[in-house]
Amino acid sequence: MKKDDLVQIKIEDIGTDGAGIGRADGITLFVKDTIIGDTVEAKVMKMKKTYGYARLMNILEPSPYRVKALCPVAKQCGGCQIQEMDYTEQLRFKENKVRSNLMRIGGFAPSEIPMEPIVGMETPFYYRNKAQFPIGTDKNGKIIAGFYAGRTHSIISNRKCCLGVDVNEEILNIIIDHMEQNHITAYDEETGKGLVRHVLIRYGFRTKEIMVCLIINGNDFPASDILTERLRELPGMTSISLNINRQRTNVILGKEVKLLWGKPYIEDYIGNVKYQISPLSFFQVNPVQTEKLYGLALEYAGLTGDEIVWDLYCGIGTISLFLAQKAKKVYGVEIVPQAIDDACRNAKINDIRNAQFYVGKAEEILPEVYKKHRIRANVIVVDPPRKGCDEVLLNTIIEMKPDRVVYVSCDSATLARDLRILCNNGYELTRCRAVDQFPMSVHVETVALLVKKR
Ligand code: SAH
Repeated sequence: MKKDDLVQIKIEDIGTDGAGIGRADGITLFVKDTIIGDTVEAKVMKMKKTYGYARLMNILEPSPYRVKALCPVAKQCGGCQIQEMDYTEQLRFKENKVRSNLMRIGGFAPSEIPMEPIVGMETPFYYRNKAQFPIGTDKNGKIIAGFYAGRTHSIISNRKCCLGVDVNEEILNIIIDHMEQNHITAYDEETGKGLVRHVLIRYGFRTKEIMVCLIINGNDFPASDILTERLRELPGMTSISLNINRQRTNVILGKEVKLLWGKPYIEDYIGNVKYQISPLSFFQVNPVQTEKLYGLALEYAGLTGDEIVWDLYCGIGTISLFLAQKAKKVYGVEIVPQAIDDACRNAKINDIRNAQFYVGKAEEILPEVYKKHRIRANVIVVDPPRKGCDEVLLNTIIEMKPDRVVYVSCDSATLARDLRILCNNGYELTRCRAVDQFPMSVHVETVALLVKKR
């Protein structure tokens, strides 16, 4: 097989970046814009030794799972990867991905994988409580807002993303009208000139509070009083601010926030724990599914009120505070100091007194505290980033011998690797369930329960 060859293939899987995967002549080909079940004609664009990339030319026989995307720019926009795949099939694909990684990478036999049915959403759209729209100028000089096209920084104009809430569009209309009337420029990444870089919007699903933050390449915003007056007419508007970012960088937010109107934060709930969320805070973007995911973590932890629990990679303490309600004591560890500030504040506003937080690397703090104080843990929860748990941390967990380990994972490949290590060292995988936090994307979260073998 070589470049420019035309091949006919059946798409059998989806890769980590959302491209369809099929095989021809023993070669694995990645074909963008295809879904599982499509038979397509594709043109080979680039060849490596055992795999290649091909461009979709023709759909010869559409997959029975192919549906019309809700969003008119789903193909161009880098936000969604599998909108053209029926949601039930998306769920089946995600559950399979977890199971096959546990088998392939973790070496678990099918009978050793106690998978419970994946937790999907009833309405798999409009679920995001946060949106960051880049602002730019199109070739006719008109101000646009939207999302970056996949792997690039060109803006696909779209004020009505169907993963976000309806009010996003109204807010963008008000801001862009205001920019046009006052001749306020959009930032241009190429030249580093222009004022408005991004609009960040957050929405409290439970409280209905709205936050708008304009990220600007400057210190002030022209006629900001007129803008805030208009934004305040929207029901639920709670916080309007500027974020100053004068750096030539891809990082969206700068460090400094200037409040224009209202409170410096909005509030929202996960379960019955209240959180204060400011423009710079981390907060889970799909609160409905987060509640289900962390609810499962709580269930798997099997708390009776007497347990010492460690929550490693705890972020703003969402899981810690959730668990603290049913545990004797919870210790959280997180590397980002601001996240721990949020965790402590959130513990306080909820009057949770049995949670304590450490700033630092989980793989340094846990061994240190364990060596010094020989403290015990009945349950250890981990929720690491994609690269999974550090080996030093896993070894410390094995040494501490908690009764249960609850593993929350955003990457089932590293989950499988880490579960293998724990299962080779005294633990048994007894429950496992995938949760769809990000419908229309290829991402999937998993929660697994490991129990100490007798
Ligand atoms: N459960 C958390 C989110 C966890 S995301 C919540 O709901 O807020 C993973 C977290 O691990 C991130 O907050 C990241 O900053 C943190 N992290 C990354 N590497 C770490 C390390 N080596 N030690 C501790 N925390 C780390």
